[in-house]
Amino acid sequence: MTSPSPSPHSGSPAPRRFPVVVVGAGPAGLTVGNILRSAGVDCLVLEAESREFIERRPRAGVIEEWAVRGLERRGLAGSLLERAERHAECEFRFDGQGYRFSYTEMTGRHHWVYPQPLLVSDLVREYADVRGGEIRFGVRDVALHDLDSDRPSVSYTDPDSGERLLVHCDFVAGCDGARGASRAALPERARISRHDYGIGWLALLAEAPPSSDCVLFGMHPAGFAGHMARSPELTRYYLQCPPGDDPDDWSHERVWKELQRRLRAADRPPLTEGRLVEKRVLDMHNYVVEPMVFGRLFLAGDAAHLVAPIAAKGMNLALNDAFLLGDGLVAHLTKGDSTGLDGYSEACLRRVWDYEEFSEWLSEIYHGTSYDDPYRSGTTLARLRRLFTSPAAAAAFAEQYLGTADAF
Ligand SMILES: Cc1cc2nc3c(=O)[nH]c(=O)nc-3n(C[C@H](O)[C@H](O)[C@H](O)COP(=O)(O)OP(=O)(O)OC[C@H]3O[C@@H](n4cnc5c(N)ncnc54)[C@H](O)[C@@H]3O)c2cc1C
Repeated sequence: MTSPSPSPHSGSPAPRRFPVVVVGAGPAGLTVGNILRSAGVDCLVLEAESREFIERRPRAGVIEEWAVRGLERRGLAGSLLERAERHAECEFRFDGQGYRFSYTEMTGRHHWVYPQPLLVSDLVREYADVRGGEIRFGVRDVALHDLDSDRPSVSYTDPDSGERLLVHCDFVAGCDGARGASRAALPERARISRHDYGIGWLALLAEAPPSSDCVLFGMHPAGFAGHMARSPELTRYYLQCPPGDDPDDWSHERVWKELQRRLRAADRPPLTEGRLVEKRVLDMHNYVVEPMVFGRLFLAGDAAHLVAPIAAKGMNLALNDAFLLGDGLVAHLTKGDSTGLDGYSEACLRRVWDYEEFSEWLSEIYHGTSYDDPYRSGTTLARLRRLFTSPAAAAAFAEQYLGTADAF
């Protein structure tokens, strides 16, 4: 698991020092950076890609209400609150019918829809341009060192000079996603639990206005299909496919024919079609790294846990980690209070495991009718019907879908 880390070569410029080095400028890393900067704690964010790239990378869109409030409390939700849409319902389509599930009517809570690239752009601007935080884009070969000591460090190759640079710090926030340097630095004692769904999703982004005012889930014998608004001009679609399928085998015509078929419902207009600007196959899997702390390395977001986009939970979990980590680091570094850091892993993992379980449960609803197995189809349809006939089942679904349980 642990790979040898490139070390800084002699002759490099003198090492710099920051209380915290944040590796990765996704939603997790940028939120941690912003929390530190607003408390006057210096940090360095290291990002492998360019600023333009991360501000355009399409991914998530659904943000839970508690996460928006968490951003707002930290002064990070100004643009989001002005521009994001609120969603109050989702719709399940099966057996040629559409069934609306009005979670806001039931709970008074809603979902926010705000594309991840907009959130990332807001967070970079606030961190680098407003709060004066230091960030290096395009760094290469990031390596973490001496994480079990009280003098950890991070080295990287500077993209302009090609020099190998070393930064000493007190803490490393490992926020560099599923394939970053933090995961590569995990020690043998890390426990990684993994779940493979055995299916693929063709993730699509269409230059087409949403075809409904809410998220659509299509359960069909040919496989799941999903529709999620991103903006008035952009819609995300998903199509269940075999894992490892080649996106090039999915022509424009084949994609729209399959989406129209799997999302068809009586009394609903056909989908509005448009150019496909993203088309890639996700092999659906989840993993959890436990604990989320190794010496001075604190993992956050996808670096610590991946949840397939079945229930739109990944970015929400990344934000939850970032709030807890940012606040914990500030309390420790400014007041010597280490309670937050001591309880960090356990506090994050409670919500992580809850969301992982919900994803698995929802996966059976989405995919259960597609296995050519009449028994599995029967139980899936029973589960679906229960959402519309049992108030207790509906309330439980709404709580998990919205992430509103008090237990966290
Ligand atoms: C198609 C799709 C749809 C999704 N929809 C939703 C949704 O609706 N709602 C939701 O909550 N979640 C959703 N997710 C999940 C969500 O996008 C992720 O969980 C979220 O991006 C995690 O944020 P993060 O900051 O942990 O990691 P990332 O966003 O992956 O950020 C990590 C950063 O680290 C950088 N990096 C990587 N390696 C290195 C390195 N070695 N050195 C330095 N930097 C490095 C990367 O370039 C990146 O900028 C979706 C994901 C996908 C793929």
